[in-house]
Amino acid sequence: MIIAIDDTDSQSEGGCTTYIAAVLMDKLQKYGDLVDYPLLIRLNPNIRYKTRGNGAIAITIATDDPDAVKGIVLDEVRGQSKFSDENTNPGVVFLNDDAPEDLRNDLKAFSRRAIQDILEIADAERLIHRHNIDFCRFKNGRGLIGALAAAGIALNGIGDHTFELIAYRRLPSASNAHGARAPRAREREVDCRSIRDSDLRTYPRTWDTVDIANRTIVCVPHGRDPVLFGIRGTIDGVTEAFSYIRSEPIERSVLFRTNQGTDMHLIRSTIGQTESGRSYILKGAVIDPPRTICGGHTIFRIADPDGSEIDCAAFEPTKNFREIIRKLAVGDQLVVCGSVRNGTVHLEKIRIVHLVEVYKTANPICTCGRRMKSAGAGQGYRCKRCKETSDTPDRLSIERDIDCSWYEVPPCARRHIAKPLVRCHGDVHPGR
Ligand code: ATP
Repeated sequence: MIIAIDDTDSQSEGGCTTYIAAVLMDKLQKYGDLVDYPLLIRLNPNIRYKTRGNGAIAITIATDDPDAVKGIVLDEVRGQSKFSDENTNPGVVFLNDDAPEDLRNDLKAFSRRAIQDILEIADAERLIHRHNIDFCRFKNGRGLIGALAAAGIALNGIGDHTFELIAYRRLPSASNAHGARAPRAREREVDCRSIRDSDLRTYPRTWDTVDIANRTIVCVPHGRDPVLFGIRGTIDGVTEAFSYIRSEPIERSVLFRTNQGTDMHLIRSTIGQTESGRSYILKGAVIDPPRTICGGHTIFRIADPDGSEIDCAAFEPTKNFREIIRKLAVGDQLVVCGSVRNGTVHLEKIRIVHLVEVYKTANPICTCGRRMKSAGAGQGYRCKRCKETSDTPDRLSIERDIDCSWYEVPPCARRHIAKPLVRCHGDVHPGR
């Protein structure tokens, strides 16, 4: 039986759908055998209803008592969901993993659209009714979209994937006057030195633990959610890194198999075909040079051979990535990756395919070896010593101090689903 859940948490009130999965991994053990690791599936990162990383979860269990399992799951979702937030609309789906071929195919297409496209609650309802899928919805049930997408991946296989080991913190022991436990605070006690040490020992088998260039710890969140820290990487990398980290007491920890760091959201396309709210891989040449606008955002424009044009932006939170972008020149040929919103590509990474020669002008050199001086406005150049003259300045080639290779935003600005260059081969400049 596949159990998939989404949309239980709230930015202001905390909670986390992965934490429900973590608790269920414990509670369900006595009802059967848990198959594989739980899945943490990141969906389209451009969805406005998302709390943080637009994640949904799926657990697979071999059980003889599906009704008991369903009861435990729904109690947990009911107990943990932050219903007072209008943006929290949980959805739960139960599937048999021997689903017929047409259901498999429909779910496969649905998962792909949930990762790359924008769906409506009605799309989820249609799929549920067409195949008579067992489900439970709370409030408007928008979470059914993510739950169906995660179930579809559990059913059809995840393909490229990475791992995240998430450690959860305990609830404060102090209770209020009514005996209720106080909510989790935003502060967490994690020894930063041990985190940096664990990164040094395990990078590149782990990534996005720290951001060296920006002197930031990336793996510790700052909200009211139960996550203490999350280490991303290969299965052996995250397990080893975890053993080095010292922190406040951990309530539990769970290893998720995930499509994080895979670029599953990116669609290969052309500039003219782009639509807002989707993420693309586009080719183009720089036609307007980078300029930095108010707020520190750096923008340039590209065009493809069809004549379609689009702005590309490295926003302020992408920090040192903007320094690379500012080195681009008109004529450079690029591949750009990122989401399109309001006619602008929000850059996640770029590949420089071809760098044009860039020149500056200088006073010409005389046959005597000295540089000539200007002879006055519009009067060319003259050598002070030999009196030789010239009308044309020299063109000096400027060295481009960037390479034809891949560049990316730093870890502090990375989206969960974006593939870090440390996972890629060839000419890459991992941005940390
Ligand atoms: P967390 O990662 O902390 O669990 P979140 O960032 O995943 O939070 P959710 O609370 O799950 O955010 O809210 C995202 C909502 O958007 C869910 O209801 C989900 O079903 C829905 N959703 C996900 N993908 C799409 C999509 N492609 N089109 C439309 N809605 C989507």
